[in-house]
This record gives sequence, C-alpha cells and structure tokens, in this order.
Amino acid sequence: MEDEFSFIRSITPKKHNHQITMGIGDDAARYRPQSGKDQLICTDTMVEGVHFLRETMSPYAVGWKALASNLSDIAAMGGVPDFYLVSAAFSEEWFADGKEVYRGMADLANHYHLDLIGGDTVSSPEAFVLSVTVIGHAPDKRTFLRREAKPGDILMVTGTLGDSAAGLSILQKKLSVDKKNMDYLVRRHQLPKPRLDAAELIRRLPCRAALNDISDGLASESSEIAEASHVSLVIDRDQLPVSQALLEIDQEQRLNFILYGGEDYQLLMAVPREAAEHYRDVFAENHLLLSPIGEVVDAEGEPGVFLKEADQIRRLTKSGYNHFRK
Ligand code: ADP
Ligand code: MG
Repeated sequence: MEDEFSFIRSITPKKHNHQITMGIGDDAARYRPQSGKDQLICTDTMVEGVHFLRETMSPYAVGWKALASNLSDIAAMGGVPDFYLVSAAFSEEWFADGKEVYRGMADLANHYHLDLIGGDTVSSPEAFVLSVTVIGHAPDKRTFLRREAKPGDILMVTGTLGDSAAGLSILQKKLSVDKKNMDYLVRRHQLPKPRLDAAELIRRLPCRAALNDISDGLASESSEIAEASHVSLVIDRDQLPVSQALLEIDQEQRLNFILYGGEDYQLLMAVPREAAEHYRDVFAENHLLLSPIGEVVDAEGEPGVFLKEADQIRRLTKSGYNHFRK
C-alpha cells in the first residue's frame, strides 16, 4: 500500500491553468490575485455516514460532489472559481480508493479550468471526511448577495428541483421508478452540475439580483433569502419546475423532495419584476431553463416563506437537514 507522500505525489497536477508561483510541494501555496478583483472563498465538508454512504456514492462521485457543492457556492455569488484545496481524512478503506476520489474532483475541475493548489492528508479511524475549499473571484466587481431581495421582486429558479432527493431515495431502495428515469435521477444525485453557466448569464445582466444556491431544499434556501433581506416569499406550487422523470412520482412525495430534499444545486434568485421577463429571454436564448416560482412581499413583522396551493396559503417550516438539531 502506498503512503501519504506517494499519494500526494500521485495527485499533484503536472500543469496549471493559472499563474501560480508555488503549488503543491511547499508549506503553503502562493499565487498573486488579479489586482482590484474581489476574491471569493468558501469551504464544504462531506462526512461518511452523514452526507454519503459507500452504498450510495462511489469514491469518484464523492470527489465530484464535494467540489461541486463548493462551485455551487461560488456560482451563488456570481463568481468564477480559480483554485481548490482538499483536506482528506481517509479511513484505510477509502485511502485505497483515494485516487478515484481525486479523479472525480479533477474531471469537474478541468471542465472549469480550476487548479488544485494544496491540501492535507491524514488518517481517520472510521469515517472518511473530505473537506474542499475553493478560491474564486468576482470578474466585474459585482457579487450577488442573499440580502438584496425587495418586496415586489419575482422569485426565479434555474433548472428543475427534487431530482437529487428522488435519486437518493432510489439508491436507498425507498422508491422505484422505470429504468430510464432511475438512471437520470441517480445521476442527478451522484454527479450534480454546479450552475456556473447560469451565474455567467446573471453577471451579464445589469440589474440587481439576490442569489442563493439550493443545497438544502427550496424551503430552507428560500428562508435564508427571506431572513437576510427581511422580506417574505410566496412560492406558487403550480409553478415549481420538475423534470419529466419526477412526474412519474406521486405528487405529495414530489413536493416533499422539492421543498426539503436538497442537493439540487440550482440557483434561486429574486429579481426586479420589470427585469424578470428579460432574464427568462436571455436564459432561453442560451438554452437554459429559468422559471418564475413566486414573489417577494413585505415581511410584515416576521420574515417567512409561504406556499400557495389552489386558493390556500400556508407557512413553510425551514426543515431540511440541520446538523446538531435535536
Ligand atoms: P505540511 O506538513 O507542511 O502540512 P504536507 O506534507 O501536509 O506538508 O503537504 C505537502 C504538500 O502537499 C503541501 O503543498 C500540501 O498543500 C499538499 N497536500 C497534502 N495533502 C494534500 C491533499 N490531500 N490534496 C492536495 N494537496 C495536498
Ligand atoms: Mg499538512
């Protein structure tokens, strides 16, 4: 079996996409940021037994998803990712597949021209823990914060929702669908695509937008925008975008996946009402789906998220996964 040092050598990139004056191989990485550009930095950790199991995620997929969730955070700021660092606490079993984990990250990284510039390799007695940090930048000074939503705005979402949670349910043998839909949904769970393509379009449009990525389900992410902006959001159940595959599933379960499932990594945004149509057109011209799903209203005291169905409106609880909540 190889050791820590030969492992690090084996995952050290042979060439870089960016100007880096010191990559892997010294005490810290060194690079010079483009002057005048805001830098963005975020980190996300995946823990075996909490975020994934060997039975539901291959080593390749764990690597892919750990990087994807960080890229999704960069997308949700309207940014461009440049570098990543990886801290891996391997159990013996996962160390044997360590290169596969890195292959999953490298395939996604190459697609967006990211460079691996450092990390840490340690052993873990049981659970495999993978922590990824991404550094990016805001190309033209603008970033898109959760706190920017205003009453009157239209709430919009990229892509379709609920697919990842359905894929997980299939992997857990709690749900069965026909073969073609199964492959699609499982793939959406294991190899999600961060919406950096959508972020690029949003950057091009010259108007205000509040932005958040949907990592923990629509209910929870909506309430983050509501709280940060001191507004309330009203979501229209009939407007929630779902994939063809998800239509095979019972309506109530589908809604549950959308609201509380998570890991869709779509972007949720609030934009001025008069700009909403233009946003949709620009997305359509680029063959990307953007759907209006509701509106931003006055908080009237306490910010909240409401679901409109038929002629009823009910307040949604945040739910979604919450670590340390008893
Ligand atoms: P130090 O003892 O100074 O922390 P290490 O032996 O941990 O040095 O790391 C040596 C080099 O390898 C550093 O540049 C570090 O960033 C990089 N490195 C270590 N582990 C990883 C990893 N899992 N992924 C990427 N780079 C790593
Ligand atoms: Mg170290």
